[in-house]
Amino acid sequence: MSAPAPVLIGDMTWTDYVARLKSDPVIILPVGSLEQHGPHSPLATDTIIPIEIGKAVAARIGALVAPAIAYGYKSMPRTGGGNHFPGTTSLDGDTLTRLTRDILTEFARHGARRVLVLDSHYENEMFLIEGIDLALRDLRAWGVEGLKIMKARYFEFVSEATLSKVFPDGFPGWPLEHAGVMTTSVLLHLRPHLIHMDRVPNQPPIHYPPYDVFPVDPRSGTQTGILASAAAATAEKGALLFQEFVEGIAKAATAEFALANRGA
Ligand code: MN
Repeated sequence: MSAPAPVLIGDMTWTDYVARLKSDPVIILPVGSLEQHGPHSPLATDTIIPIEIGKAVAARIGALVAPAIAYGYKSMPRTGGGNHFPGTTSLDGDTLTRLTRDILTEFARHGARRVLVLDSHYENEMFLIEGIDLALRDLRAWGVEGLKIMKARYFEFVSEATLSKVFPDGFPGWPLEHAGVMTTSVLLHLRPHLIHMDRVPNQPPIHYPPYDVFPVDPRSGTQTGILASAAAATAEKGALLFQEFVEGIAKAATAEFALANRGA
């Protein structure tokens, strides 16, 4: 019996990769960060989650998963605690834009025409969009047609019903869900050995004013790195969320890329 075909591009030989590209698979590019996620969660929280979602989506839709962009744009106080924390290792915006642009044009050069950029770090968004836009502009100028790119953030795929189950006392909003109940629960499901529930800070949600001040004063804002407590995180909530992310993204990719529906 032969082993299942690899889903990770990095595990494939170039000849197997070329052969797989002939069937026009979606390539999933996970994008995350190396960023503090409180004293209880790993620095790679934002990278582990889209890689695992990407692998699960790939298994459903016959996609390939590219190596992740494992660094992101600078952590902002109101969405990630701030860039001053040790361990938070960030890129300048134009570096992330260039990385995205280069990787996408390389996929297109190989013959890929369907790419799903799966982002998970709040601050990345516009730099990824810029990289996508510039890659498409480059390709048009080079006469390369037909590349379609879908960009998604997994947390936008949660239903109201699941939100009310995961946050029975009220949803604090995605910007504050940094190392909070959502990411901590998902990692309790995916990588329980990387989560230290005994170190979850017991603190109320941070209330930031509706503006930013630069340079950032490290003495203001969160001192623990979390913005809202993860004390209510559980592996069961994580399993529910993960399932919903995977199903929602697989369904959206199937529709956007007009893939034959393989069923659940
Ligand atoms: Mn982040």
